[in-house]
Amino acid sequence: MSAELFVYSIEMRTKFRGITVREGALIKGPAGWGEFAPFAEYDPTECVPWLRAAHEAAFEGWPEPVRDRIPVNVTIPAVGPQEAYDLAAASGCGTAKVKVAERGQSLADDLERVEAVRDALGKAGKLRIDANGGWGTDEAVAAIALLDRFDLEYVEQPCETVSQLAAVRRRVEVPIAADESIRRATDPFLVASQNAADIAVIKVAPLGGVRAALEIVERIGLPAVVSSALETSVGIAAGVALAAALPELPYACGLATVALLEQDVVAEGFLPVDGYLTVRRPEPDPALMAAATAGAHTRDQWQARIRDVEKAQ
Ligand SMILES: [Mg+2]
Repeated sequence: MSAELFVYSIEMRTKFRGITVREGALIKGPAGWGEFAPFAEYDPTECVPWLRAAHEAAFEGWPEPVRDRIPVNVTIPAVGPQEAYDLAAASGCGTAKVKVAERGQSLADDLERVEAVRDALGKAGKLRIDANGGWGTDEAVAAIALLDRFDLEYVEQPCETVSQLAAVRRRVEVPIAADESIRRATDPFLVASQNAADIAVIKVAPLGGVRAALEIVERIGLPAVVSSALETSVGIAAGVALAAALPELPYACGLATVALLEQDVVAEGFLPVDGYLTVRRPEPDPALMAAATAGAHTRDQWQARIRDVEKAQ
């Protein structure tokens, strides 16, 4: 497949997932630009669906939307209560996701942070927490019992494994969402068959594109929260397209992550207004692309990576 390739390197505003610089490739085809930005530790086989998703964007485009705006959550990192309050209050979002179970912190820290965010959102706001697999089973059950004082919408990935999620889910009333447990296309089926979650956090790239993700969501029969993989607005557009095409979208999505990057490659990126993203497909801006251009070495690495992924297909 012949296509135009652009490799970017963009600093992160805050360290996220242990990453300080985000790198990836943009691929242009007749249908527009697609983004291929699997994380560095993913091997070629694991990257196959990521490349498929980028190619879908570049060569096929996406299914028709059934809605024109997508509710999104603000993400509150594991910061102190005042900063958490300010972030939630300034976001304009009616839904907040609060990070908990951070290494080196205590449950008291989580309680303070969650309370502050509840205060900022008011009673009507939706508040979910994300432990990123940081709790053991008993620990999760005890923490959720205390944190639910602030009326939790759901708990994302309280523990690491699918069987732990299932065990916690049997012991708490609060719905459980699976995120890290869904990294490959077969994972959502395991989560569903083990009764490990009430909600599936779905990312377009690891599932192989918007159409593939739509089909998976339909087959597993769980509500989906569409989330990003920390892409530029080119990649976010695919998540927005999925959220826009899902027959039902009962929860705010995790697609408001562009502000974590020091810069974007489109002029009007996917930043939420009053808690919503507008469904559209922005074009990269030449000047912003120029500013984000990776060095020759990084570009060579990504070209080689794509060749390896193509061989692994
Ligand atoms: Mg998560």
